[in-house]
Amino acid sequence: RFITLEGGEGVGKSTNLNFVTQWFESRGIDFIQTREPGGTPLAEQLRELLLQKRDESVDPTAELLMVFAARAQHLNRVIRPALAAGQWVICDRFTDATYAYQGGGRGLDKSLIAQLEQTVQGDLRPDCVLLLDLDPEVGLQRAANTGEADRFESEQLAFFHKVREAYRARADADPARYAVIDASQGLAAVQDQLAAELDRLVVQ
Ligand code: C5P
Repeated sequence: RFITLEGGEGVGKSTNLNFVTQWFESRGIDFIQTREPGGTPLAEQLRELLLQKRDESVDPTAELLMVFAARAQHLNRVIRPALAAGQWVICDRFTDATYAYQGGGRGLDKSLIAQLEQTVQGDLRPDCVLLLDLDPEVGLQRAANTGEADRFESEQLAFFHKVREAYRARADADPARYAVIDASQGLAAVQDQLAAELDRLVVQ
């Protein structure tokens, strides 16, 4: 089965990803942990290109195609083989991030993203999306406090509001496949909720 972890900046994605992988380890469940953009050497190179600061502003469609180029490689070389071998796949971001960042944030047409999604993934979708939801003002403040902030210095709060809204719209449209977790709660409460979702998933 295929699980993804999603959310905007400063929602605690890394900490909670560790919690999720430890949860699987402690139960002796066979899984791989991977991430997007990235997850293979080529896709990691594309990630570096995407995150690089440059003089030239990146055209949103160029960014979208790079994200899906990385995804095609990652999906076919890593994710599909793992699923075929019966492993669980835990992926840090996936196509929901594309709807949120390139769709919501950069304003690209959702139908264009949906076309690429269908071309690259066919019918493959995550079985469960764990969405850490947080007001971006709180998230950016948290990111600033943990020293992650300079990466986003130039980004606008309005951008992250659009990212959040796009994530929430995805979850609202398909509630059975999304677990929306209120990331403004304390870590213990967030992780109790994550554990409850994982319990539910492994018995299904
Ligand atoms: O998951 P992580 O925070 O490490 O991702 C790094 C950055 O990649 C994010 O902060 C986001 O700005 C960017 N990203 C993006 N579009 C995606 C996925 C990630 O712009 N589809």
